Amino acid sequence: MYESFIGLEVHIHLLTKTKVFCGCRSAFGDEPNTDVCPVCMGYPGVLPSLNIEAVRMGCMVARAFNCRIPEKTWFERKQYFYPDMPKNYQISQFASPLGQQGSVDIEGKISGKYIQKRVRIKECHLEEDAGKMIHTGTVSLLDYNRAGVSLLEIVTEPDMETGEEAELFIHQLRRTVRYLGVCDGDMEKGSLRADANVSINFPGKGLGKKVEIKNLNSSRFVKLGLNYEIARQSALLDAGKTIVQETRLWNENRDETQSMRKKENAHDYRYFPEPDLPVFVPDAAFLKSVDDAMVELPLERVKRMIAEYGLSEEQADLICEEKAEADYFEAATAEAEARGLSKKDAAARIANRLLQDVKHILSREGIEPRGIGSFRLGPGRLAALVSMSAAGKISGKNAKQLLEAVIKEDADPEVIVKERGWELISDPAKIAGAVKAVAETETATLTEARTADGRRRQTLTAYLVGRVLSATGGRADPKIAAKQVEELIGGNEGRYSTVS
Ligand code: ADP
Ligand code: MG
Ligand code: ZN
Repeated sequence: MYESFIGLEVHIHLLTKTKVFCGCRSAFGDEPNTDVCPVCMGYPGVLPSLNIEAVRMGCMVARAFNCRIPEKTWFERKQYFYPDMPKNYQISQFASPLGQQGSVDIEGKISGKYIQKRVRIKECHLEEDAGKMIHTGTVSLLDYNRAGVSLLEIVTEPDMETGEEAELFIHQLRRTVRYLGVCDGDMEKGSLRADANVSINFPGKGLGKKVEIKNLNSSRFVKLGLNYEIARQSALLDAGKTIVQETRLWNENRDETQSMRKKENAHDYRYFPEPDLPVFVPDAAFLKSVDDAMVELPLERVKRMIAEYGLSEEQADLICEEKAEADYFEAATAEAEARGLSKKDAAARIANRLLQDVKHILSREGIEPRGIGSFRLGPGRLAALVSMSAAGKISGKNAKQLLEAVIKEDADPEVIVKERGWELISDPAKIAGAVKAVAETETATLTEARTADGRRRQTLTAYLVGRVLSATGGRADPKIAAKQVEELIGGNEGRYSTVS
């Protein structure tokens, strides 16, 4: 067995309205080459200007990963040529990135086993993205809309050991940046991309020769690519061969990594401080604005929700996957509590409805989980429904119909229940009237039930309860009706289960 070392470089698109060094729109899917200007096209003589919102968002991520925000942060030019980068250099950060030396704990289940591990964060730096090259047949097309879009790179130390751990890290990072509202985390659109670095070595020998798998756009590919590499490199060492430092690509059709370029020596990017941008000094007001924008992070929230509401780990994890959903859950639970339910009872009922019916309806209606906040079934309405059903005011069957009706008619549950006459009669005196009337018309059945045994008695009881329910237009609380019918038949109470 060998030791393995994995370090990730994760790039996220920040959700700034404009690009990082110019006023162009930062958007995905616009007509190619429409979000461009002389600055992001690298014309001579233009001046970049720093988007403070991008710095603020970057610092929020730095804070979330417990990084130090330095007293001064600045930008460097990283020189290299690539057709999708019109300036022939990229403005990035090198000597003093905006987030330094942090750490984050990753936690979760990996094939049924709970793991917790601290991953050190080397740095978070802000830079500009390159454009996009689209290869079609014999020509390559360039779209510069993405050139200059705010990109934050989060670099870890090589503290992970398996593809699964790396996948968990990415999952947690994605959830965190979405909670912070600084990135949509959409890996398919390229808003979150990762380069995965991995080496193996004989136990106790430390880091090995690094192989980098570039441009992974799914956390599953990160896992698969890394595990493939660990196996490939292990086989090389087993055979007494050496590992070559190189950059590889994941081929998703063949489920393997392929060599892209050998990188024996580090690139010489000839970094030097960007002369056209001043050093940024985060002052107290700026740092306060960063702190004010922070929110409770997903992992903390999961733990608090388990302790506070008595949710299972699985429930809390599912609900906290999306911040909007966790917000919805807590708002609905508070409203149900205000209607007299205990906190844990309210939470259990809301969690069940949310994870079963509501999620199902959202996906049926094509509403993304994050859109739950503006859904017609607001938290107050779900709380009203849940507390009515907890109080026995509506039947289980009606509760489901009610959920659908609230959404279809965009109306409050109380109003619908009233209109439809769904409110159950739970006043025993009112039900007793119906029982008496049924007793008068069903004398033969009643007589037979009084002497019948076993299944026959059960059948007759169910029949009589059914008569009572229909006499009340289906509105009598079935439990109370059954109890009263049992009493009417008398005798064998307790020997048979009641009908409910
Ligand atoms: P480079 O200068 O080649 O970009 P860095 O030191 O910036 O290398 O590291 C890039 C990433 O590679 C980091 O995430 C780091 O943790 C990881 N890394 C560096 N060396 C190794 C190694 N020998 N094995 C595994 N990962 C490594
Ligand atoms: Mg690097
Ligand atoms: Zn521009």
